[in-house]
Amino acid sequence: MKKLYAVLLLVCLCLCAGCGEQQVQKSDIVLDTAVTLTADGADAKAAIDESMARLKNIDGMVNPNVPDSDVCKLAQYAGSGHWVSLHPEVYKMLAFAQEYAAKTNGAFDVTTKPLVDLWGIGTDHAKVPSPQELMAAQKLVGWQKLELNEENHSARLQEKGMGVDLGGIAKGFAVDEVRQIYAKYGIKDGLINLGASSMYGLGLNKEGKSWRIGLRHPRKDDAQQKMAVLSLQDAALSTSGDYERFFEAGGVRYHHIIDPRTGRPAQSGAMSVTILADASVPDGGMLTDLLTTAVFVLGPEQGTRFLQTLPRGVEGAVVDGRYQLWTTGNMAAEMENVSEEFQFWQGSGELQ
Ligand code: AMP
Ligand code: MG
Repeated sequence: MKKLYAVLLLVCLCLCAGCGEQQVQKSDIVLDTAVTLTADGADAKAAIDESMARLKNIDGMVNPNVPDSDVCKLAQYAGSGHWVSLHPEVYKMLAFAQEYAAKTNGAFDVTTKPLVDLWGIGTDHAKVPSPQELMAAQKLVGWQKLELNEENHSARLQEKGMGVDLGGIAKGFAVDEVRQIYAKYGIKDGLINLGASSMYGLGLNKEGKSWRIGLRHPRKDDAQQKMAVLSLQDAALSTSGDYERFFEAGGVRYHHIIDPRTGRPAQSGAMSVTILADASVPDGGMLTDLLTTAVFVLGPEQGTRFLQTLPRGVEGAVVDGRYQLWTTGNMAAEMENVSEEFQFWQGSGELQ
């Protein structure tokens, strides 16, 4: 009996040492983003350290300011006919991007880079370009002009002046990579947070509840002002909005999500897009990141229609300019504490 008590006491001590004390959190700026990684478990510190190193490693492949990054090499050899050998990670992102460029009729297009650079949104040289500048940049955009060779993981861009921008997909890809590292270290509870725009919630938080994520109000300057709250448990979550990076001129909001078909910041009627993918969805981080951008370009109606064509486990909410929430799947039921300013779109012009 005494022995049994001793064993029970030991188990209790281990568990108590486990609650709270083993949660590790680390923040850093990587991928141009304030990253916060949280993990609970015996190997939490090792998992987080390896994850941070991995994020920096991915940054080095996709960062246009790193001279020998894969994206720089692609731009450098554009139009030369030379195939650029890529890291498998970059190849995977490009192949995924191309698949969805085709599925969205080019709404998502990583070759949008010349337009992204021309508008310069979020930089100190942001401006409304002249029609001539726009036309010249638009000629250099088109996902069909990005060729991939699966056999040797290489790629080339057909015209000089072209480039790829992985800003709409790399953070989601990185979330999936961190998730794999967490799995390797047996982390069951944690939050992978890449600047709130791409996240993955594993298991439960310290209070033993699912992670609660506030969705930002798209028209309140204070980032703490929430539109609604979502519970995140073993799922990827991504949000894109026209409030993230923008400038205003002549009453128009020029933001960072470009419609490659017009060459201009998308005026699709959307203010923000949130997408959830459960654990059954492969590459859920990358997919949700890509979809927020794509659905934003497509707009509330076309965007939600497109989401409905995707496999189960993916669902989303689009906020339009009239504060209406267009949702798919179970999203409407999952949104809690929805601010009174917003209403759920019911179709045919009727609101709930
Ligand atoms: P996100 O904030 O995830 O919507 O990603 C936006 C970023 O993706 C921009 O800052 C650009 O780097 C890039 N981007 C903008 N428009 C597009 C587009 N239509 N397709 C693919 N990438 C885009
Ligand atoms: Mg995105």
